[in-house]
Amino acid sequence: MSKIQIKAPNTDVIFEKWKQQANRKRKKKLEKEFGVKGAVFSIDNISAGETVKDTMKEAAIYFAVKKTIEPTKEKEEEVIVEPEKVKKETFYEFKKDVIKDNWKGDDKVPIFSTLTPKPCPECKGKGFIEEKCKDCKGTGNIEEEMKIYQDEEQNKEKKVFKYPCATCYGTGKVKERCKECGGSKNLYAYKIKPVPFKRKETGIPILHSSAQTKYEKEIREDLHKLIDEVEGIKFSNFKDLDKKAEPSLGYYNKNIKKTTKEAGKDYDKYEKDKDTKIVSQIYLFPMIQLFCETKNKAKSFEIYALGSDKNFMIYSNF
Ligand SMILES: [Zn+2]
Ligand SMILES: [Zn+2]
Repeated sequence: MSKIQIKAPNTDVIFEKWKQQANRKRKKKLEKEFGVKGAVFSIDNISAGETVKDTMKEAAIYFAVKKTIEPTKEKEEEVIVEPEKVKKETFYEFKKDVIKDNWKGDDKVPIFSTLTPKPCPECKGKGFIEEKCKDCKGTGNIEEEMKIYQDEEQNKEKKVFKYPCATCYGTGKVKERCKECGGSKNLYAYKIKPVPFKRKETGIPILHSSAQTKYEKEIREDLHKLIDEVEGIKFSNFKDLDKKAEPSLGYYNKNIKKTTKEAGKDYDKYEKDKDTKIVSQIYLFPMIQLFCETKNKAKSFEIYALGSDKNFMIYSNF
């Protein structure tokens, strides 16, 4: 059975590790901030009791994600529109593969070289539809019946006066602009094809911490390289982590609860994303935050410890 409890390093152990590290890397600064004038400087004289003003017990959650960008496998589609709409469309013609991280458009886009005219099916490529003229009922002529008087007694007979219909110029047919193609004879077909994304694989370390720290990026990258060197508790899902966070750490607070929830949401997001795959277990780490003050000028600084009492990393803005 895997370990379900972890002991966070105590203040003295963290402070000691920080002191050793600061002595190696920033000895002059340490001497300036903690040394006593006239006395020989020794780190033994720097005590946690005097320096650490407050401690907060927090937690960090880590998991690793692999992101693989592949050319989209989705099928291409064909679109048929009238010429007016072609003008308004944004077309592409790719000269090389596209870096997906910099791409802001859709995964599939219209490709200019696929644009081809198709005779309008409605008017069969004529641009108009011929109909029987309504004014002459398709005869091409208008016929008017007239009364023709024959004598002084108003006797009359009927005669027909016939003349070519002005609406259809005597042809009996009128042309109506085709509503489908707007008179342009053609519709235009083009293909919407997947963007040729460049194949790329990247590892992404994900860290959520309940402590407000400037070191998230640094911690994330360190964990990515050194995950086996820091002791944390492993979980295979967030349901378990949520349930066991408190008994595992031996402490809990509302920031940890909030962080767990946010990390869980993030995890779900990566799980659903077709480009990403979660490639590690979920690690829960104790994160101890020490709020410190230098001896000489009471300048405040912080020390963070991530990991168990046996194996932890420290970060500080000293
Ligand atoms: Zn007519
Ligand atoms: Zn048409």
